[in-house]
Amino acid sequence: MNIALIAHDKKKKDIIQFAKSYHTILSKHQLFATGTTGKQISESSGLSITRYQSGPLGGDQQIGAKIAAEEMDMVIFFRDPLTAQPHEPDISALLRLCDVHQIPVATNLAGADIMIKALDHEDFEWRTIIEENRKQE
Ligand code: PGA
Repeated sequence: MNIALIAHDKKKKDIIQFAKSYHTILSKHQLFATGTTGKQISESSGLSITRYQSGPLGGDQQIGAKIAAEEMDMVIFFRDPLTAQPHEPDISALLRLCDVHQIPVATNLAGADIMIKALDHEDFEWRTIIEENRKQE
């Protein structure tokens, strides 16, 4: 699975801790990240990550493009809900694309924890539901 990892500055500590805690699971997948998030995670955990631009410079949009191309399977995006972000429109666009393409997205540590465990158990029921709905359309 292709998994995107993104964290706003005040959430970087959380995503690093998350990546270390779930290193074994994450290492079985292809990981992508916005610039600074990817750098910090790979330096502290040793995980191999394809890095895009930093978020404010277009990294969220690059990940959005992967979603639009059906090349991203999961997004873990630790948002900072208490700080205004200069690239807010990019963030909204990314989350919108997750909804458009039915991509599982967690925007905080608690949700990501549940999602990564489902991933480890290969609990991909949502894909069957989406397939069935598409057939009925
Ligand atoms: P960063 O970008 O990983 O380069 O800090 C994240 C973001 O702010 O969207």
